[in-house]
Amino acid sequence: MFSSYTMTTLRYHRDRCINCGRCSEVCPHAVFLAGDEKAELVRPESCMECGACAGNCPVRAIEVDSGVGCAWAMISAALRGKDMDQCSCGGEAGSCCAEPEKR
Ligand code: SF4
Ligand code: SF4
Repeated sequence: MFSSYTMTTLRYHRDRCINCGRCSEVCPHAVFLAGDEKAELVRPESCMECGACAGNCPVRAIEVDSGVGCAWAMISAALRGKDMDQCSCGGEAGSCCAEPEKR
């Protein structure tokens, strides 16, 4: 049976990882942790498929279908009764997870 808590589109190709640490820095849910030699996928069930990790991985070691945008930002906005704004995911430009433009 499908469970959104245990099945996501997140795929980690550990063999490609160069241990740059970006995924663990940008993930808002601590799905990845920095390891001694490779990033460690420690909480895949917490992934909200925002795409920030994949967008920041320089060697494409992470794949995720982030077509719906950042679920965290969407839920947060709904709870606050406001429009969705930027979250701290650090995703690609143009997404809800985009970093603020530098002035
Ligand atoms: S898609 Fe978002 S929530 Fe999921 S592991 Fe990557 S940064 Fe974390
Ligand atoms: S961003 Fe990519 S290369 Fe960097 S630690 Fe994460 S998986 Fe490894």
